[in-house]
Amino acid sequence: MRANLYDLAPPVLRETLGGIVDPPFRAKQIEEWMHLHGVDTFDAMTSIPKEVRTLLSERFTIALPEVIERTTPAADGSQKYLFSLADGNRIESVYMPMGERTSICLSSQAGCAVGCTFCVTGFFGAGRNLTASEMLGQFYVIRREHQIPSEMLNVVFMGMGEPLLNLENVITTLDGLYKSVAPKRITVSTSGIIPGIDELGQLERRPNLAISINAPDRKRREEIMPITAKYPLQQLMESLRRFPTEKGRDLTIEYVLLAAYNDSPADARALAQLVGDLDAKVNAIPFNEDANLPEWMKRPGDAAIDRFVDTLVRNGVRVTVRRSKGRDIAAACGQLRGKTEPRSRASRER
Ligand code: SAH
Ligand code: SF4
Repeated sequence: MRANLYDLAPPVLRETLGGIVDPPFRAKQIEEWMHLHGVDTFDAMTSIPKEVRTLLSERFTIALPEVIERTTPAADGSQKYLFSLADGNRIESVYMPMGERTSICLSSQAGCAVGCTFCVTGFFGAGRNLTASEMLGQFYVIRREHQIPSEMLNVVFMGMGEPLLNLENVITTLDGLYKSVAPKRITVSTSGIIPGIDELGQLERRPNLAISINAPDRKRREEIMPITAKYPLQQLMESLRRFPTEKGRDLTIEYVLLAAYNDSPADARALAQLVGDLDAKVNAIPFNEDANLPEWMKRPGDAAIDRFVDTLVRNGVRVTVRRSKGRDIAAACGQLRGKTEPRSRASRER
């Protein structure tokens, strides 16, 4: 099988191309066609001589995943993309305009084995790791479609899957993204895979880190995030304390608000205590409902959300509320499943 050049880490790519094309500026041109323009055929590399393009296409591919469906833009402008992968897997990505800047939310796996009980991706279960070409492809295809300059883009790994369980490919993806997007514009969100957090912390160029805490204590976190049994909350907090955040950057603590479960002022105070002296801001995410998720899980009303946020603020915590994008097109956090047809609770029980 021909290797996909997008799957090669930059030093490997340079070495690979160095043996085939000369002079070295050709390799740089090819890299630019890939990472700045996101092309998916060698013929699109018009500044490269035809015979070189032919040579390359005999040995390699630069195929990207194919869009098989895009929703019409939601009221807030966001759009969900369904991609089909070479092996038939399907993944989703979300385009989210937010005023001055636009965020593109990428999937890192074709499912998720972590199994958080409030998440539709988790409900549908494990899926394989995505390759770098599949992650970069989501970004390059959407960027090209909307013709947005990279300087206006943020990238968030908050789609399907747990990026820190696919860290090697995520790192290759980051290195590709860095050609057009600054590390401070990229955020990797994790359910709290401690070895992955430590590994990320050792990278020379690091993205921002977001951690889905979601509960104010170990007991409740274990209830809704079974991964807590493997990576206990206290140890997770310690790993965040040793994570080297750069000047001017913050950790983000994500917290899904579930009505009458973790949204009381006492819960806000407990969360403030947990966050303590970390350089972190809290991102409160009102729960997005879905027919596949437990019936007791509800989105809190606005008054409860405001009360929770006010209590955090009064306890010295910086907080933003994620007015979830694309709820009307099921593209909001936790609603991605990589399927066109949502399975109903009834059909699951049959
Ligand atoms: N696996 C990673 C990244 C993908 S999930 C992680 O868990 O962090 C991205 C965010 O969506 C997480 O903060 C998660 O807690 C949140 N989320 C999942 N399901 C949700 C739902 N139904 N409503 C609101 N947020 C949800
Ligand atoms: Fe996986 Fe994140 Fe969903 Fe948990 S919230 S099941 S880690 S995608």
